[in-house]
Amino acid sequence: MEEPVIGIDLGTTHSEVAYLNDGQPAVISVAGSALVPSVVSLGPDGELLVGQAALNNELNDPVNTVRWIKRKMGTEAVVTIGGKAYTPAMISSLILRYLKQAAEVHLGKPVSKAVVTVPAFFGERAREDTREAARLAGLEVLRLVNEPTAAALAYAMGNRDQGKWLVYDLGGGTFDVSVVDCSQAVMEVRASHGDVNLGGHDFDRDLAHRAAESFKKQHGIDLHAEPRAWARLVRAAEQAKIRLSSEAETVIREEYLAKSADGADLHLTFPVRRTELEAQVAPAIERTISSVRQALAQADCLPSAITRVLLVGGVTRMPLVAQLLRSELQLEPQAWINPDTVVAQGAAIEAATLCGAKLGAVMVDITPHTLGVGALTFGDVVEVVPLIRRNTPLPSQASEVFFKRHEDQDAIEISIYQGESRNPAHCMKVGEFHLDHLGTSASCEVHCRFDLDRSGILTVHVTDLGSGKALTRVIERPSGTRRANLADLASVRVAESEQVERDESVDEWAANRPDEPDQEEADDQVVEAEVVTDDAVVAQAESVLARTDLDAADREELSAVLAQVRAGADGARQRLADLVYFLQ
Ligand code: AMP
Repeated sequence: MEEPVIGIDLGTTHSEVAYLNDGQPAVISVAGSALVPSVVSLGPDGELLVGQAALNNELNDPVNTVRWIKRKMGTEAVVTIGGKAYTPAMISSLILRYLKQAAEVHLGKPVSKAVVTVPAFFGERAREDTREAARLAGLEVLRLVNEPTAAALAYAMGNRDQGKWLVYDLGGGTFDVSVVDCSQAVMEVRASHGDVNLGGHDFDRDLAHRAAESFKKQHGIDLHAEPRAWARLVRAAEQAKIRLSSEAETVIREEYLAKSADGADLHLTFPVRRTELEAQVAPAIERTISSVRQALAQADCLPSAITRVLLVGGVTRMPLVAQLLRSELQLEPQAWINPDTVVAQGAAIEAATLCGAKLGAVMVDITPHTLGVGALTFGDVVEVVPLIRRNTPLPSQASEVFFKRHEDQDAIEISIYQGESRNPAHCMKVGEFHLDHLGTSASCEVHCRFDLDRSGILTVHVTDLGSGKALTRVIERPSGTRRANLADLASVRVAESEQVERDESVDEWAANRPDEPDQEEADDQVVEAEVVTDDAVVAQAESVLARTDLDAADREELSAVLAQVRAGADGARQRLADLVYFLQ
């Protein structure tokens, strides 16, 4: 029985799970809907609810309901539910586990592998959090795929026209735009830009604020201070926003929203016109258009070279979005695949492709951010030295040699930055490594290599040539101990949605499935130095030594390390691999 691999769009407001059915991507209906609210809430019996049941529970218990957790991915935020603390990765893992279980029920087979999508503009830490969330949910991530890229894959499946596409993705919480070069054989992302803090939810909240202000003027009561009333109002504002995509005016009406000082029931009635909503959201949509211009500039592409504008994400149903894109690019934006599910469909296509299905073009993605190392420059100023620049195709590898200040410097600190400035203060520090007990040596050289995989996950290799000490680490959360005070996910009981029907084969499999991964193992940030298990590196070293142009000192060092490898010395193989890498 072949195990299916699923594609998951882990969204800010909704998540979807899809798989390839008879060569076509199919979105799985969970509890009656393809769109699963990305919500976790504490149920009346102390169990955690996920999805629609959690969203329904929000109005009873808004304080113990978590929404929009995706916006916190990659941050140090902690949320509490029922007095227990959870990281964003833990909350996301509950959503992923719910989707995995729904897929297993639908497919009647265990599922342990997935392709998960992330905003193209997600940084290193948010990507790593997504991977951790999947791992906690018992899912191996075969690849993280950028959302607009996944959408382009879904569009490319039925359309083999050549050209340059602009994929504009405005969802509930994030905005991304990508310029994609499409040919028969390859789909290459040329540039991505975006904002991980811009989405439809901001529009809902702004509209709710306006309605709350009007209510305060009328009744002197601040609805922001009442969590249940505020949750109802934001939800009503969202519904009004959605109606205004097809109607010129609407009314936000919420009855029994509060009580007056003398105990009378108070109702809210707030009329809104589409033109008013458009005036409210126009600055944000203008910002997305300026992102479009930046993506085009970075892709070295004139607006007139774009052959298709594809709309992704629920908010692109707002007429203003199409209108501004049309006037910017002189093209009619298109959305012939449902903008809510197109990303999950693309993820399912990528999942099937990774398992060997031949579905069309090969996809080449890019990194949206520059990655570099902080180094002291003249005048003792720390600057970021870029190793991998933004919009570099994935996977990518780059290296640089740095120097210790003096030969007996016993320790080095390596800071990894993400951002587009040489000034570290304008970048985000995504990792910090320490190498010590280096002793005194003749060499001050420190080799630093970045490996960025197809999921945009960075592995850093540092080798102090003097001592031979090496370190290989994946960028991960910096504070592993933080979890000691957090809720233990193993003890979390997630209520199953009543509408999900189990079939017996899945129950049987569930009874025998392996345990969840060990939490302590999850906390272990350090990935052991790469172990080279075959002798390819020895053969490569021999071929480097056979070169006549090799520097005498390099030859001497390489020969010495090769002899150490042959003698079975600890760590020598890694050092040899690094040396070969730098000398090749
Ligand atoms: P997504 O993140 O792609 O699932 O998009 C969800 C966002 O799209 C939410 O903010 C929804 O309120 C919004 N949305 C869905 N349908 C519409 C619509 N017809 N008009 C405006 N916004 C919409």
